[in-house]
Amino acid sequence: MSSNWHQSIQQELQQFSSMGLKRELNEMEQAVKPVLIQNGKRLFNLSSNNYLGLAGHPLIIQAEQEAAERGAGATASRLIIGHDSATNMLEEQIAKWKETESALLFPNGYMANLGVLSTLLHRHDGVFSDRLNHASIVDGIRLSGAAHFRYQHNEMDHLEALLKRAEIKGIKRKLIVTDSVFSMDGDVAPLQDLIFLKTKYDAALMVDEAHAGGVFGSQGQGLAHHLGLHQQVDLHMGTFSKAFGVYGAYVAGRKEWIQYLIHACRSFIYTTALPPVVIGGISKALQLVRMSDDLRQSLLQKSETFRTQLQKKGFDTAPSATQIIPVLIGDEFKALAFSQKLIEKGILSVAIRPPTVPVGTARLRFSLMANHEMKDLEHSISAITDVGKELGVV
Ligand SMILES: *Cc1c(COP(=O)(O)O)cnc(C)c1O
Repeated sequence: MSSNWHQSIQQELQQFSSMGLKRELNEMEQAVKPVLIQNGKRLFNLSSNNYLGLAGHPLIIQAEQEAAERGAGATASRLIIGHDSATNMLEEQIAKWKETESALLFPNGYMANLGVLSTLLHRHDGVFSDRLNHASIVDGIRLSGAAHFRYQHNEMDHLEALLKRAEIKGIKRKLIVTDSVFSMDGDVAPLQDLIFLKTKYDAALMVDEAHAGGVFGSQGQGLAHHLGLHQQVDLHMGTFSKAFGVYGAYVAGRKEWIQYLIHACRSFIYTTALPPVVIGGISKALQLVRMSDDLRQSLLQKSETFRTQLQKKGFDTAPSATQIIPVLIGDEFKALAFSQKLIEKGILSVAIRPPTVPVGTARLRFSLMANHEMKDLEHSISAITDVGKELGVV
């Protein structure tokens, strides 16, 4: 065994701990529920992306069991023999739901962003990406080799200055890409302004609806639909792993764009198709999500109350305006201590640290579920306040 390797890996690992960035895999049971179990202890679950509670929905689980009859796996990639009528029908339904010409399934959101951005963008193109965009967007851009312009979070003046700079450089094809709901701040992108700028500078706009899908829009299509701006978005992306409670992701847009991805997108072409169980689960989840306006309202109402209460107690909830509510701490060790003390009080909220968030902005990230009980949320507010006072956060 090479001792060069082993020693340096040990050293680098040690650095993670000394910087308060040690990470651990913790075993959870019943994570699909509002109250889960960790090490035999019941914890109120404020850490999940299962915003509508659908991951535990009996109809979705039943649909998955029925789909399992068609086989345990898809046996090949989509372009070989991994495409069947259920997959085809699901893609048609996604396109109809998103009101686009066409839609394409991906194994997951990470692979969708990685593949789509690295395929569409060529070396001489320019891409304009919000500084807080998801890691999968950043990685897709890096892989593409395109000129990468990162603008300050939601700062349209900065974006416009970068667009101008790209014009001067003679960059012709420009793509603006943004999360619609930001995963660690819970705020929303100024889609109206982004559309104004993309029109003014003849750019295209791609929107990642990972955290907005299921939650915003009259049928859970996402923030672009909620704002009535969907027809002005060139490429829609979203995942079925969050509010939909299942797994997998989609990209939707014009027919030719989707056709092009089928021809050239490596994370679509060179991987096995999603198994029947997942296709069955997504299909049922999509049906339920479209009808779940009551759950959306309940979720957003509870989130509003929870956020306002935290603010009243003096916590900094960043510009959160959704079901994702951060409490900014700053220091990594303090964020870890906060999370640990909350676990002692029966509440699970994981500390989010760099590189997931910028250095110096470690935080707790509370995410709400439509089926959270108000009394549990109220109890959490007082527990969070107690810990906040103890640690000098408020
Ligand atoms: C979670 C997430 C993804 C990745 O989706 P997965 O299906 O979990 O791989 C992509 N973009 C954003 C903004 C996300 O929050």
